[in-house]
Amino acid sequence: MSLHGAYDPDNIFAKILRGEIPSVKVWEDDDVLAFMDVFPQSEGHVLVVSKTSQARNLLEIEPEALTKLTAAVQRTARAVEKALKPEGLSLMQFNGEAGGQTVFHLHFHIIPRWADRQMKGHGHAPMADAEQLQALAARIAAELD
Ligand code: 5GP
Repeated sequence: MSLHGAYDPDNIFAKILRGEIPSVKVWEDDDVLAFMDVFPQSEGHVLVVSKTSQARNLLEIEPEALTKLTAAVQRTARAVEKALKPEGLSLMQFNGEAGGQTVFHLHFHIIPRWADRQMKGHGHAPMADAEQLQALAARIAAELD
């Protein structure tokens, strides 16, 4: 997938947004959804997507939707920090296949980091246990401002 082209309404995050496949939600409102990455690169890896935009990548998103999305990323990252007490946070966002993107609905990764824990590689993490993801999501949601 290049940086340019049509939005695929059957991409995995579109299906999650329509409720056609399950996800472990942290929080949502009319504009955004934050949910647990099912292949977490570290404990507490959260994805944040726009519910209103069909932008595939950062180049395409409407400014108003981007403003709401980045505010949601900050709100979620603050809750992750309070809940899990990481020593750092890596925010990642990939654009186009050559840029490392694998799901073509714009999203931000929030990845908690600890100095003594190796972060798993992008696209190389095993699937997480659903109950553990639910427990993490609940801890993070409890810390939302
Ligand atoms: P990208 O490579 O596009 O930046 O990131 C896509 C992310 O979506 C990856 O971190 C991957 O683990 C995650 N992912 C892929 N399929 C699913 C899924 O079915 N559910 C959830 N929650 N995450 C997924």
